[in-house]
Amino acid sequence: MEKKINLGIVFGGQSGEHEVSRASACNVIEVIDKEKYDITLIGITKDGDWKVYTGDYKNIKDGSWEQDTDKIHADFSIFHDPIIQDVDVFFPVLHGPMGEDGTIQGLFELMNKPYVGCGVLASAAGMDKVASKMLFESAGIPVGPYVYFKRRDWEKDPDSIIDDIAGRGFPVFIKPSNMGSSVGISKAHNKEEFIDGVNEALRYDHKIVVEGFLNAREIECAVLEENGEIKAAIPGEVVASKEFYDYEAKYSDDQDSKIVIPAQISDALLEKIREYAIKAFEVIDGSGLSRVDFFVTRATYNIYINEINTMPGFTNISMYPKMWENMGVSYAELVEKLIQGAAVKRVNN
Ligand code: ADP
Ligand code: MG
Ligand code: MG
Repeated sequence: MEKKINLGIVFGGQSGEHEVSRASACNVIEVIDKEKYDITLIGITKDGDWKVYTGDYKNIKDGSWEQDTDKIHADFSIFHDPIIQDVDVFFPVLHGPMGEDGTIQGLFELMNKPYVGCGVLASAAGMDKVASKMLFESAGIPVGPYVYFKRRDWEKDPDSIIDDIAGRGFPVFIKPSNMGSSVGISKAHNKEEFIDGVNEALRYDHKIVVEGFLNAREIECAVLEENGEIKAAIPGEVVASKEFYDYEAKYSDDQDSKIVIPAQISDALLEKIREYAIKAFEVIDGSGLSRVDFFVTRATYNIYINEINTMPGFTNISMYPKMWENMGVSYAELVEKLIQGAAVKRVNN
């Protein structure tokens, strides 16, 4: 029998999406072909400690694995530990900063190990809302009105920033440039709310992006690279229950937000969005997978790209896998394609 591939599943992480990552990782492990793969579980705690876990993967979902101390191996060097060195392919099922932003991808590069998903540049560019908007604009993908500034600009001369924003008109969305899960994001209707919003966003990043409010539907498109070909699924729509799709609406259990696949818009709009999604993936130099999120304005049906997520929510009920399921690719097949893609990338580089 052929030697099994040792797959390192990395889960948890320091970002606000630690819990989602655990849920995604559990679903991924469930469908992995155990005849073909040996699985090494590598958990990153909220404090950023790396731990190898040899217990039952079902304890990952609720976080109880961290109490299973006799099954934890924590004192190791990422570069020298035999357990880590034995991993053939890593699958970082991690979202947000320190997971989806190129940092861990850089570590895998240094270790000379293949990994699922986007590389360093695409991950970093995708996580940074300002950098990605600039790339999208350069590729001719419509981007909604925005401005950005740095902490030092705000500290030097807040009034001219406030006047500039007021001159463009409220309401606006204020976001940390590098973040996810709606963390640090707020909507401001006047100068006072704007100042509060900037201070809130500055807790998470030194770079702030301010966007004009779009009265729009939220349409998302799944992109998958397979055998060197980049494919876009038929888009889906997120129908949010609240004023905006915030962290709670995204991840609470009894959420009223729902996903509708395919999105109920014209075929022409669906096709245009698929075309833009592939362009967005190309321009950030993506590999493996990404979910590209768009706004379609309610009255005028204008398409604007919102953002690209290089490691989108990946539970078996998340939008990304659901879009592929609608295209005839099961969750298990999708996971296998992604792992194969990482292994092939290794051979081609
Ligand atoms: P994150 O990376 O945290 O998901 P997003 O840029 O997607 O950040 O913003 C989170 C949510 O806020 C979006 O899903 C949407 O509901 C709302 N939102 C963000 N920007 C705008 C905007 N310019 N106009 C209207 N709603 C917005
Ligand atoms: Mg995001
Ligand atoms: Mg988003």
